[in-house]
Amino acid sequence: MTRIALYPGSFDPVTNGHMDILRQALALADKVVVAIGIHPGKSPLFSFDERVDLIHASARAEFSAQDASRIDVIAFDDLVIDTARSRKAACLVRGLRDGTDLDYEMQMAGMNGTLEPTIRTIFLPASPGVRHITATLVRQIAKMGGEISAFVPEPVADPLKRRATPAGK
Ligand code: ADP
Repeated sequence: MTRIALYPGSFDPVTNGHMDILRQALALADKVVVAIGIHPGKSPLFSFDERVDLIHASARAEFSAQDASRIDVIAFDDLVIDTARSRKAACLVRGLRDGTDLDYEMQMAGMNGTLEPTIRTIFLPASPGVRHITATLVRQIAKMGGEISAFVPEPVADPLKRRATPAGK
């Protein structure tokens, strides 16, 4: 039986923090489905297609070819748990950075577990070197012309700099 883990988030763009959780999830599941939430009304920095390409390019750069081939990237605009059901996922994967993440994630896990008791949420702890990284702050730093290469995979750095400062500051 193929054990599928669903890893939902915005990934706008994928950061070293997301890659850390993805690496840990690949060690636990046969296949990891990265599910990019699409919210009408929210305008992301990168389009869905761009985010997909950046995730695959980062996986190819950082993981073995075999591990990278075990990652699928999809969009979802419905309930996470409905997406998990339709993709036949055994579990949801979420990363924990700190107590704030834990409080919020426990609520989500409780709600999702009530909606679908057979699909459990697995929390994976952020590795020490990446636990401070949030995509929101990375976008802000990039928009102000700061150096973001310590926070994102190599294939993300240049596209992020170009997108965040279109005038080429
Ligand atoms: P962010 O919270 O950075 O905007 P997402 O909404 O895309 O990112 O988050 C998707 C998942 O990735 C969540 O489970 C979140 O906790 C996890 N995650 C994000 N950044 C990190 C990090 N630095 N370390 C561990 N997990 C992270």
